[in-house]
Amino acid sequence: TELNNQLNFSGGPGVLPESVLAATRQAIEAVPEVGLSLLGISHRSQWFAEVVAEAERNIRTLLGLSDDFAVLFLQGGATLQFSMVPMLLLRGSGKTAEYLRTGYWSSKSIPDAQNEGAVRVLWDGEAEGFRRLPAPAELQHSPDAAYLHYVSNETVEGVQFKTIPGLDSVTRVCDMSSDFLSRPFDPERFDLIYAHAQKNLGPAGVTVVLIRRALLERVPPGLPSMLDYRSHLQAHSIYNTPPVFAIYVVLLVSRWLLNDIGGLASMAAINQQKAAALYGAIDASGGFYEGWAAPADRSLMNVAFRLPTPEREAAFLRESAAAGFSGLAGHRSLGGIRASIYNAMTPQAVAMLCDFMREFARKA
Ligand code: PLP
Repeated sequence: TELNNQLNFSGGPGVLPESVLAATRQAIEAVPEVGLSLLGISHRSQWFAEVVAEAERNIRTLLGLSDDFAVLFLQGGATLQFSMVPMLLLRGSGKTAEYLRTGYWSSKSIPDAQNEGAVRVLWDGEAEGFRRLPAPAELQHSPDAAYLHYVSNETVEGVQFKTIPGLDSVTRVCDMSSDFLSRPFDPERFDLIYAHAQKNLGPAGVTVVLIRRALLERVPPGLPSMLDYRSHLQAHSIYNTPPVFAIYVVLLVSRWLLNDIGGLASMAAINQQKAAALYGAIDASGGFYEGWAAPADRSLMNVAFRLPTPEREAAFLRESAAAGFSGLAGHRSLGGIRASIYNAMTPQAVAMLCDFMREFARKA
């Protein structure tokens, strides 16, 4: 039901705006301009070329992105970027790539880089349970690193960088899968950004890559064509059959961000308000709810917390599900509870969860 869609706190695929779901339902029936179901429209149609072009334009407008960057819509998820990035930037370079190991997902990105060359883990938060992020003074960056890779928001642990780490002179690569388009940032300080769609941008199936065109001047030989960013750039993201459905929904979400929300500053204000409400409920619980992340590094997207016992956590999940909430179980690697409050999660839904949490703690 519509109400349950709005109460979907899943880590991803997650909640989408109700207006986007309504437009998607209509497009599955028939795309007005084409008169065919979205599920059966050729990727070679003029209509779809315009879908890709407008989605790209909207992302450029939202970010103020210059033409120094290409915008690509790729498959293989964020996980394939764990390999494509070092294939492009590390393979045969003779240099060392720097990685920040700040949580579950940045940890996953490191072995794929090690397949391509030397990797230096500049900071490792595992001993502290990935509850906090490094302070700038803790990072000894090397000016001749092949690149720096980090994850702007660790989806599992719920820690999020509030500032951009690294040297501006070094190629900066960022996995923004779980906070892309949730707040404004200066894209010119990056060289490659990737984000899969299934958090803030749409359904699973497509990954947005922003890549500084200059990086493509030094592509190593022998890359499979599908793993060579240039193939997708030259073909305007229609090198082979792309996920037409997913890209169309990304277009709808980008229109929603621009026209209904009014851009990334407005989106960030809403996201801050939602996170403040939820962390406020945790902090006011007298220790009943315990936030995972150190307060300074708390994510505005993923709020991970624990209850005093596993039994209470099980009861919380059971009773919240009965009340219509879903997706609140923590990631399988961490357990506990995680409320993901991506862009499309409404402040009203967050307020309902806060009310539920207060009532659950009161009864306990
Ligand atoms: N990076 C981050 C920050 C994620 O949250 C995830 C998955 O949730 C991934 C990478 C892996 O993404 P995918 O499943 O699209 O490969």
